[in-house]
Amino acid sequence: MTPKNIWAVGRNYADHAHELGNEVPKEPLVFLKSGSTATEKNVIILPEWTILVHHELEIALRWDENRQLSDMTLALDLTERHFQDQLKKKGAPWTLAKSFKDSCPVAKEWVPYVEGTNYSIELYVNDILRQQGFANQMIFSTKTLKKYLEAHFPVEPGDFLLTGTPSGVGPILRGDTLKGVLYNELGQTLIETEWLFD
Ligand code: ZN
Repeated sequence: MTPKNIWAVGRNYADHAHELGNEVPKEPLVFLKSGSTATEKNVIILPEWTILVHHELEIALRWDENRQLSDMTLALDLTERHFQDQLKKKGAPWTLAKSFKDSCPVAKEWVPYVEGTNYSIELYVNDILRQQGFANQMIFSTKTLKKYLEAHFPVEPGDFLLTGTPSGVGPILRGDTLKGVLYNELGQTLIETEWLFD
């Protein structure tokens, strides 16, 4: 189901904030991707006008009917880094860089989410490990993010929360295959999904 809103958090892993030359935020840095950017497609067509699209693998959570974050999956917060850098310099909004068509690929499968569990995620580009992160490395916990978002924004059941990306973000080229894996604390695979880029 298409969410109304995708609430995304920037710089929630210190090592990723540092790799882009950003300071670690003192309160959550929230931006929106439109709900219609979410897609379960496995083949993603990069828009013609894009120059440098980066992968950001993230744990995605979803608000249920009781407004709890009860299930989780993997999502890519695709980011047009060339234009984002230009927009950042101008102090302008990131919409062009973050909310283009199909810029939020989401795995088809969702699994139960348990607050406080040290889940981990890995992203492989053409079978080479590029990103790895652990939930306990997040600067703001999902509990803190939930509280912050609900205090400031009209969050609705079905909305997604993208919890930020660990370090290792990098370019996607047409023809690349990306594989995302979500593990539980025991290192058992909960979700594995592949995306082809064209
Ligand atoms: Zn992100």
